[in-house]
Amino acid sequence: MEGASLASKYTASTDYAKDAVTDAPYVSQDVQEVAQLIRSLDVATKKGGSFHVKKTTFKVATSPEGLKVDSWRFQDWDYKKHDLPTYARGLFTARNAHGVPEIAVRGYDKFFNTDEVTATKWQNILTNTKGPYELTLKENGCIIFVSGLEDDTLLVCSKHSTGDRTDVTTSHASAGERLVEKQLERIGKTKQELARELRKRNVTAVAELCDDSFEEHILAYGPDKAGLYLHGMNMNLPEFMTYPSSHVQKFAEDWGFVKTGLIVIDDINEVKSFLEEVAETGAHDGRDVEGFVIRCKRTDEGAKHYRDWFFKYKFEEPYLMYRQWRECTKALIAGKQPRYRKHTKITEEYLLYARKRLANDRNLAKLYNQNHGIIKLRNDFLEFKNMNGSDAANFEALYGGGESNEVTGDVILVPIATIGCGKTTIGVALTHLFGWGHIQNDNITGPRRPPRFTKALLDELDSKPAAFADRNNAQKREREQLITDVKIQHANAKLVALHFVHNDIETIRRVAQERVFNRGDNHQTIQAATNMAQVRGIMEGFIDRFEPCDTEREPDSGFDAVIDLDPTQGSRANLEIAIKELHRLYPKFITTMPTAEEMDKALEAALEGYKPEMRHTIPDRGPKNKNQPKQPQQQAPAKPAKKKALEYMSVELTTKDVLDALEKTFAAASPEQSRFFKLLQGSRRVQPKFHVTLMHRASSKEHPALWDRYTRLHEAEGAATADGRLGEMGVLLERVIFDDRIMSVVVRLVPEPADVNVNPDASGPPQPKWECVNRVPHITVGTRDDGVKPKESNNLLAKWLETGSGPGSNIGDLVIEGKPLLRGVVKGVLSR
Ligand code: GDP
Ligand code: MG
Repeated sequence: MEGASLASKYTASTDYAKDAVTDAPYVSQDVQEVAQLIRSLDVATKKGGSFHVKKTTFKVATSPEGLKVDSWRFQDWDYKKHDLPTYARGLFTARNAHGVPEIAVRGYDKFFNTDEVTATKWQNILTNTKGPYELTLKENGCIIFVSGLEDDTLLVCSKHSTGDRTDVTTSHASAGERLVEKQLERIGKTKQELARELRKRNVTAVAELCDDSFEEHILAYGPDKAGLYLHGMNMNLPEFMTYPSSHVQKFAEDWGFVKTGLIVIDDINEVKSFLEEVAETGAHDGRDVEGFVIRCKRTDEGAKHYRDWFFKYKFEEPYLMYRQWRECTKALIAGKQPRYRKHTKITEEYLLYARKRLANDRNLAKLYNQNHGIIKLRNDFLEFKNMNGSDAANFEALYGGGESNEVTGDVILVPIATIGCGKTTIGVALTHLFGWGHIQNDNITGPRRPPRFTKALLDELDSKPAAFADRNNAQKREREQLITDVKIQHANAKLVALHFVHNDIETIRRVAQERVFNRGDNHQTIQAATNMAQVRGIMEGFIDRFEPCDTEREPDSGFDAVIDLDPTQGSRANLEIAIKELHRLYPKFITTMPTAEEMDKALEAALEGYKPEMRHTIPDRGPKNKNQPKQPQQQAPAKPAKKKALEYMSVELTTKDVLDALEKTFAAASPEQSRFFKLLQGSRRVQPKFHVTLMHRASSKEHPALWDRYTRLHEAEGAATADGRLGEMGVLLERVIFDDRIMSVVVRLVPEPADVNVNPDASGPPQPKWECVNRVPHITVGTRDDGVKPKESNNLLAKWLETGSGPGSNIGDLVIEGKPLLRGVVKGVLSR
């Protein structure tokens, strides 16, 4: 491979723009479009949508007219969703004197690492993008936006905040503003001029603030390198549109910004080879780099229109190791236990060295905390070890690992997932293969579930080398609970996360739904065949709440290791990855890899043999014996599901019959009288199916004998028929009663002659077979919203009986046209 020549061929060329003479692109703002954008953002500031936006209003300190701007902030993971009104990361809007909205600042569209989302899979990059590919160094400071407001104020802000100008030592925006002032002074121009120029072009200038004297990041920017590195000029539009780099560089020259190093490559295959080569060392052009941003154009499959599109390529090492050292050093200074999972051996040595240096020089700690001297301390250590960064990062591979070599058991596997990712499947398969414990949160019912879940897991560790914590753990607070509880009770336990990475949300949603709906009713709390819409809602809820594992921060930094799995892959693939990684992490815990056939078999057994245990029982795991060998043939529990409880006794009617009667009745009524019915219809609040409730479980205490009779009847006869029917009866529709909350039809029940006098208990007096315990038998037609429950029909009808519907009452009352007598089916309805 001709790699070495590639890297030297593409050294950064900062004079690219000199020959470029084309005009910059220009598109003006469309007021309607911007207003629409702000409306949808405003909606998303309220809870309940598929994504959430945080709005913050800032008064612009330097504006003579006291202008205000609104910052709109998405949550990072929401950018992976496909229905956002804009993908701008960093967005400020303003209103002019006439209240007309405008985009004041527009960041780049959020861009992703290679392989992080579908669009950035190399295969898709290769087919859907076109050059020229402009590679800029991922400068590593903080991003600064500069733009011009209506009153010629120059707005300088960071991603989500404007500075207040007084606070130049800690506010990024204010530090940025000071640098702009300096650079303009140098070239003899004013802020007003820059503001006017940017506004005339309808653009936001995007720059990186790199200045070690302000804040040291991982890479070095001494005084000669410090400044605002201009790397982009974005049109202030909802859609992403950005200048070609030639124009960016020209603008940088004209306005005193530092130019960002730029490499242009026309062929995407060459781009890929170049990146892979630099990644090997993590250094380019003689200095450490964090990665590259690649700017190009991309089209959706099949479409002709190419849009501006970025992706990034991040170098893993030694950058990540440096970052780990930085965090560990700060922990040392704060007197905390440094946490690290990778590069354990070399990091131990680094910390030993750092500890000595810190002890010898008290000023060092103080400066370090202010982000000074980080790089020097690291370089001193490398020099002391006579190593370069990439040797250090490869140290483990060369000299072997640390204490993880000693782990033989007490491992708790913690999925981080949503419903249908295959947690239970993998858990059962692992149990088959290794005889580990498997605790399903769904099987733990009643109060205080989290501590009992933890206890059940720890109990498993008494007799088994590992336990699988089968719960979604989708939110950080759930992980925090588990990690904290486990570490308090069992300090030596190793917590390993199985992180089902949620990148391609659309595919995950599709795959999981397909699986769950095929799974049917074989699940404790999610009986998909029973109610698809509801299940979809529950699944969506988990996806919305999902918080990715972030080992840089609490609580996920508490995991001893994290194994990334891809939920869109089959469980077989994920099973193998999990085992392989565990084997690599803890070679004395999993000493040999199972064969492919063994894994196939275990997964098959998990997919086929597994039926969940019942809803409200905790499995009896039987006596434990530490020395008992595992039983590989042991089948997963396969008890039949317990019958669900009776919720209410119902007389079901044919929807069309009831609707016809209502339509006819309201067609003959005044507009005033039919207003609420129209409202219910218009807002889809008319029930899809109608029934008369004979008795609900809620009143079983008042009528214990009747409830008992219904329950037994249902169990004896209802179960025997396919649709659970117990009999039929006539239902005469009499009147429709309503207020502005709820609508009900008063009915008269007309039992079959044979059901009028029966002797259900073979003792006691004869009685009717079907009794209705409600004061007024009725059908609920619909309620205004979810806040009004159907059972409130009883209140409405009680009030109607007392006050009637005459003048002064807000109750409507119409006789049902023709008072039809319908056939109803009596059946028991089960709890969901
Ligand atoms: P959990 O909700 O994360 O515990 O997911 P489950 O392990 O219960 O899996 C959801 C459904 O998908 C179950 O019916 C599984 O049998 C099924 N399933 C799991 N893994 C696979 C797989 O790799 N392929 C297919 N076709 N189905 C799977
Ligand atoms: Mg499960």
